Amino acid sequence: MAGLCAGALLARRGVEVTVLERSHEDLSGRGAGIAIHRELFEVLTALDIDPGDAVGVHATGRQVFDADGEVVARLEQPQVFTSWGLVYRMLRGAFSGARFLKGKTVDGVRQQGDGATVHCSDGTHYESDWVIAADGSRSALRARLLPALAPRYAGYVAWRGLVLEQALDGRTRAALEHRMSFVLPPGEHMLCYLVAGPNDDLRPGHRWYNWVWYRPVAAGAPLADLLTDAGGHHHRDGIPPQRIRETHIAALQDAAGRLLPPVLRAVVAATPRPFLQSIVDAAAPALWHGRTFLVGDAASTARPHVGLGVSKAAGDALTLSGALAGPRATQAEALARWNAERVGVGHAALDWGRRLGSYIGGTPADAARAAEARHYRQPDVVMREVACPQPERFLNP
Ligand SMILES: Cc1cc2nc3c(=O)[nH]c(=O)nc-3n(C[C@H](O)[C@H](O)[C@H](O)COP(=O)(O)OP(=O)(O)OC[C@H]3O[C@@H](n4cnc5c(N)ncnc54)[C@H](O)[C@@H]3O)c2cc1C
Repeated sequence: MAGLCAGALLARRGVEVTVLERSHEDLSGRGAGIAIHRELFEVLTALDIDPGDAVGVHATGRQVFDADGEVVARLEQPQVFTSWGLVYRMLRGAFSGARFLKGKTVDGVRQQGDGATVHCSDGTHYESDWVIAADGSRSALRARLLPALAPRYAGYVAWRGLVLEQALDGRTRAALEHRMSFVLPPGEHMLCYLVAGPNDDLRPGHRWYNWVWYRPVAAGAPLADLLTDAGGHHHRDGIPPQRIRETHIAALQDAAGRLLPPVLRAVVAATPRPFLQSIVDAAAPALWHGRTFLVGDAASTARPHVGLGVSKAAGDALTLSGALAGPRATQAEALARWNAERVGVGHAALDWGRRLGSYIGGTPADAARAAEARHYRQPDVVMREVACPQPERFLNP
């Protein structure tokens, strides 16, 4: 997302852009639900993309269930939720003028004077004035530029899934349709909301329920076991959905039977292939490194509770493209300002995400942490802050 936004915006301003994408496949069929905010809309506007109502599913508010299925709290808060694929397709469609090369794994950058050379694992290389590293939370370029900064595992994973509306009975659908729904089992957190269905279908009956269930998994052997497939291969950076072992899926379904209210249990039970990701914290202390910039998750990865991944990526890209394409005489000043501002946003998002996830997992280390965890487990706080449509209220750079 960060790479597409930056590339499309710079190409719009007449800059010659090449995007190097590791994946050989079209990524549009991947991903699940996301919250979107002002910064993404600003990028769409700058690219003359007007999605109108076709941007996602409108929710009227939020609700929290207890384990028996009673609604214990409600909040009226209109919000639009969309799918990763829908946003990806809109941005990809805006990229026709520029070069988008698939199957190119960048493994290094050599910076020299007023330019840089990007090296790919297939032996090819590309000369450029500037390099924008938008290679995600496990960024290879960040690891080169800032070798001491390793993403820190948060102590829990997110199980995720998409279920077609038609796969659920009428009562379950009615209970979940108009609101983002939460349940807070001890030390865990699950949420569910509607997003566009296959082929970006927004018609009632054709959409997907997107759910995310945060569950503690100790670092070391337990996490390694979860990320190891039936053939014994350990997928440290993320296990493909089809490689997750059946025993882990069965354990998840079993936990759903014990911990979730009937409507959310039904959602998990109807999910053909749940998938998972480990939750990490990472934020670079500087995003401008000579001829190279870090943006999106490569710059900072906050926990998904903040619901900011795509919009922060869009914001990084929008402000960077403005600084790069501005007047030459003040470019260095504009880039320094960009760096300071976006480092601030990244660290603020990281802190907010850590606070929101503070009650998930093990026993807090001290009394202050325990009080923080109790605060962030309150249904009213969860409803007000998780993926809040006005994130500025909780970001304090
Ligand atoms: C397929 C996919 C699905 C996702 N689905 C969701 C979702 O449903 N909900 C959500 O909240 N977030 C999702 N995310 C994460 C979300 O996109 C990011 O948090 C956010 O948009 C920041 O984007 P990014 O561009 O910085 O990183 P990413 O979106 O992770 O993109 C990084 C890109 O860099 C490529 N790449 C990585 N390493 C290299 C390399 N060495 N050389 C060349 N290319 C490389 C990757 O293939 C990827 O396309 C998804 C990411 C991906 C890649």
